[in-house]
Amino acid sequence: MALEVPQSVLDALTDVDMPRLPAEGPASETIAVSGLEMPLYRASCVVVGSGAAGLRAAVEAKRRGVDVLVLSQSAWGGTSACSGSDKQTLHTANTANAGDNFAAMARALRAGGAMDEDTAYVEAVGSARMMASLQYLGLPLPQDRLGGTLRYQTDHDEVGRATSCGPRTSRLMVKVLAEEAIRLGVPILNHTTVVQVLVVGTGGERRVAGVLALRTADRSEANPLGLAVFQSDTVVLAAGGPGELYRDSVYPNGCFGSLGLALEAGIDLVNLTESQFGIGTRREGFPWNLSGTYVQVIPHIYSVDAAGIEHHFLADYYRTTQELASNVFRKGYQWPFHATRMLDFGSSLVDLAIFRESAAGRRVFMDFLRNPLPVGDDLPFSLDRLDDDVRRYLVNAGADQALPIDRLRHMNPLAIELYRRYKIDVAREPLDFAVNNQHMNGGIMVDIWGQTSLPGCYAAGEAAGTHGVTRPGGAALNAGQVFGTRVAEHLAARSHPASGDVGAASFRNAVGKALDGVRSTLRSESPLSVRGVRAEVQGRMSDKAGMICEATGVGAALDEARSLNARIRAEGIAYDRPAEAGRALQWRQMALASEAVLTALDHFVRAGGGSRGARAICDRDGECLPSARIGALDDCRFRKERAEHRREQIVVVMDGTGMAVSTRANRTFDESARSFFERDWPDWLTGRVFSSGDHRAGGR
Ligand SMILES: Cc1cc2nc3c(=O)[nH]c(=O)nc-3n(C[C@H](O)[C@H](O)[C@H](O)COP(=O)(O)OP(=O)(O)OC[C@H]3O[C@@H](n4cnc5c(N)ncnc54)[C@H](O)[C@@H]3O)c2cc1C
Repeated sequence: MALEVPQSVLDALTDVDMPRLPAEGPASETIAVSGLEMPLYRASCVVVGSGAAGLRAAVEAKRRGVDVLVLSQSAWGGTSACSGSDKQTLHTANTANAGDNFAAMARALRAGGAMDEDTAYVEAVGSARMMASLQYLGLPLPQDRLGGTLRYQTDHDEVGRATSCGPRTSRLMVKVLAEEAIRLGVPILNHTTVVQVLVVGTGGERRVAGVLALRTADRSEANPLGLAVFQSDTVVLAAGGPGELYRDSVYPNGCFGSLGLALEAGIDLVNLTESQFGIGTRREGFPWNLSGTYVQVIPHIYSVDAAGIEHHFLADYYRTTQELASNVFRKGYQWPFHATRMLDFGSSLVDLAIFRESAAGRRVFMDFLRNPLPVGDDLPFSLDRLDDDVRRYLVNAGADQALPIDRLRHMNPLAIELYRRYKIDVAREPLDFAVNNQHMNGGIMVDIWGQTSLPGCYAAGEAAGTHGVTRPGGAALNAGQVFGTRVAEHLAARSHPASGDVGAASFRNAVGKALDGVRSTLRSESPLSVRGVRAEVQGRMSDKAGMICEATGVGAALDEARSLNARIRAEGIAYDRPAEAGRALQWRQMALASEAVLTALDHFVRAGGGSRGARAICDRDGECLPSARIGALDDCRFRKERAEHRREQIVVVMDGTGMAVSTRANRTFDESARSFFERDWPDWLTGRVFSSGDHRAGGR
């Protein structure tokens, strides 16, 4: 961006207006269960969530003639609409230069292990189509004169498959998909929080029958919580990630996801041990990732203690100014914390150092008005004294300006503009930041069509646990689009109009059971409050199951999580007003999700599981010892990853009031197998292509 970019262009890419939702019509029917008359809505398919994944599923289903309804806690809430980074990334097959190889891309997607090989290929091969269709809907991805998409390299990406519309890529995706949904007449019911998945049948006959929700628009004197019943043959869970799980989090406020909903419906979850942690500004202010150019311009990073004294703490970790500066730069495309990068003075020492400063009660800042200070008596910072890869990048980018802020203005003015919108001017003041939880790689277990272990119920987007231990930056948004489309293709091929008999005893039983669950939790006299449950769950997760995790502490954390859930079952959660009722139910589910994550982690650690992805399993007997300039970091000695754990995934499912845990092998994919037109065409023509074959969700 050597040319000055007009303000109007910066505005359009950072301040993205969302479309107006059409007025919602009331339900035309009611259903009376357990003495309560509630509105009843029917559709062939209910999509839970209006993020990029949910809207993609809804739009694709509607285009195929499915009568689909979107329910959303907050139409433009969630991570797609409200999160991002300097250049929020979409990871797709590279269309620039010589094109790509889908098999190679699939290998890159699953490189960290614990990922189904067929899923990786599905995401790779589907990426080209998902990108082209977003462009068709108007997503302004940057191109060169010849139509190639502009690309760059992001984390866990050795090829350069990343592209971006700027800081707000995913919000722009939501915008174009929402406009399409509105154009197609898909009803989007806002302020509608799903609190229970309705399940009918037993054993092999179990299937989804709809959802129970709290709807602001349906509150009345007789129905103060606004309980509403949605009857549907198919349900797509696209409620995003469990952003509220950790205290230190860069998710927007109010992201609960659907792990708890799924657990209560007896749906299998997978890879819950795998999350991402990285540097960003906290959600107490304006939550945003500090990846890419924010650190590639090499700002000075320092901390301030309670007495207001500044500390150049990174100088305790790196041996030279060049090493320090080069690793701050590398955080740009090696963004999430990775245990092995703490070794050999790698870039994750930056995360560790920041984590330790925060734990010591110091606030950490990024200052774009200063270059990094020197390490001890070493030479001062110079753009001429950087590691080769770093120097080459900055030279190619033309980033030879004297100060980080000028390099940022040159490389990515949108990054400055974005914070300005939230009243933070990084050209004037340093940025207060920390290491935060950012993404759940695991989630609801699905097959190659997004089907969960509960027939009729699908999952897409961050709700689905399709990623393995690592994922290239931008792969989350890609997965949500690819699976959103495949879910719609699958359910459209199978679905039939909602014809369920409301009077059917099994459906009414399911609604009655769901109501019992609501009533048993919402108890005004309970000693447990929403605030108390939140503080306990988040504190435990950040302190005991965060990026730095003591192997010996996991078992006790699991015991505590179990006893909190036992108390919630026995005593419920108090709530003051109808608006808090939804939160109380979501915290009940988040407490369950937390127990499920700790169950998986405890299982992993007991099985000798080591440090992988974004979590270091610290252990006095660990084989790996990170070193800093000031010496070995003995308290961060960590276990090495075990190769066999890459080949399997940990599955957790609710069994009565407890959690059952098991492992299953990754599904494989034969790269040498080729499709053959005349042989395989009939499968497409007859719809046999929609059977999962060997690519089932696994589980029981
Ligand atoms: C700071 C940050 C930066 C990121 N950067 C990138 C990036 O560069 N590239 C990338 O690929 N990924 C990135 N991610 C991850 C990515 O943004 C998310 O994985 C993705 O947006 C999730 O989309 P989704 O549609 O699954 O969920 P969301 O966008 O979170 O949408 C969830 C929807 O469900 C609704 N909902 C939730 N619970 C309920 C309920 N009970 N009932 C009804 N509705 C409900 C919400 O209101 C919302 O509409 C980033 C995430 C963060 C936090």
